[in-house]
Amino acid sequence: MIRKHYKEVKKVLRKGSHLDTYFVSKYSFSPYMACQHGCKYCDGRAECYYVEGDFEKDIVVRRNTAEQLDQDLAKERDWGVILVGSGISDAYQPCELDEKIMTETLKVLIKYRYPLFIITKSANILRDLDLLTELNQVAGVTVSSSLTFPDDTHRKIIEPNASSIEERVNSLKILKDRGIAIGITAMPILPQIVDNAVDLERLFDSYSSLKASFVLPGGLTLRPGKNKTIFMNILKENYPQYLEIYEKMYSRDFTSGSPLREFSNPFYARVYQQMEKRGLNDSIPYQIYKDRFPIYEVVYIYLKHLKHRYRNHQDIRRLLESYQRYKDWYLDFKNKMSISKKITYHTLEEEFFFLLETGVIEQFIDNSTLYEHILGRIKEIERIR
Ligand code: SF4
Repeated sequence: MIRKHYKEVKKVLRKGSHLDTYFVSKYSFSPYMACQHGCKYCDGRAECYYVEGDFEKDIVVRRNTAEQLDQDLAKERDWGVILVGSGISDAYQPCELDEKIMTETLKVLIKYRYPLFIITKSANILRDLDLLTELNQVAGVTVSSSLTFPDDTHRKIIEPNASSIEERVNSLKILKDRGIAIGITAMPILPQIVDNAVDLERLFDSYSSLKASFVLPGGLTLRPGKNKTIFMNILKENYPQYLEIYEKMYSRDFTSGSPLREFSNPFYARVYQQMEKRGLNDSIPYQIYKDRFPIYEVVYIYLKHLKHRYRNHQDIRRLLESYQRYKDWYLDFKNKMSISKKITYHTLEEEFFFLLETGVIEQFIDNSTLYEHILGRIKEIERIR
């Protein structure tokens, strides 16, 4: 039995100081705190998040999420993707079936035409299929599911109350059939338990057959305290053969929960080998975000992703310089919004197009091949608002 703790909040929409170019989002919100899914590795259990009570049973319900989001968005002068992630709660955990907070917030997002990126381990998302489809048509939706086990054998022990792998895969297929972009948040891939030659192949084969737009891979972090203790206890009970190596991997007790580099470097090498072998995309593609941010930000995200894509190439000095110049200019440009309350992203977009026509943006990029390429991308953008 769970215990629900109802709470009225005065603000729902969070906006980070920087655009998140990894999850390609600008805002976030969460209707709940704590999570019935009870994943044994969940970072949300860590003391730094101040989640009180039993993480799997004491669920804080932000009952007025939709109403407050309506008020927050009515005042907002900026625009971009809102992330509803799976950090310290999953928006579609079982209690959402009664609370219906997501159903109401989707209606608000449709009203204001804000794009959504949602990460969930629950097939309950299908209850809102029609609203998600409508929001996708007016603003854009991406759904990503965390799939880190090739089948349910380990999933039942480690993610006991989340949807089965088959249910998650089927949900993604149904969403994709509705025209919604889908992705995989492949995190955390568990060392030894899944990170072995056979299971890793099976896992990445399953990603390939889903034809998701992207796969974002990540390893396991265990922050010292409850996060680490709970996971190590599960390991002791169910996988005692791996206990020793896990103790070594996480022996430094970094605040971030990261393992020692001598383990994480080969892990990422194995993962990226699997990705490259299958041509999987490790960042959210331009085709997905191009209509979901102001144009000056689309260019910034695109340059940042180019920098990431060519990171192992020998001579990318000119690309790095162009990126840095554009970034410095963009941060200054964006700052105008904080100086005057009259400035909105529409104002800045108009100014951007003027600067584009007068050659100012070309000067910042100062790399004719790259500039022509970016110009081509800009011309491709069909504005949906
Ligand atoms: S679904 Fe996400 S938030 Fe919920 S327990 Fe699992 S990892 Fe934590």
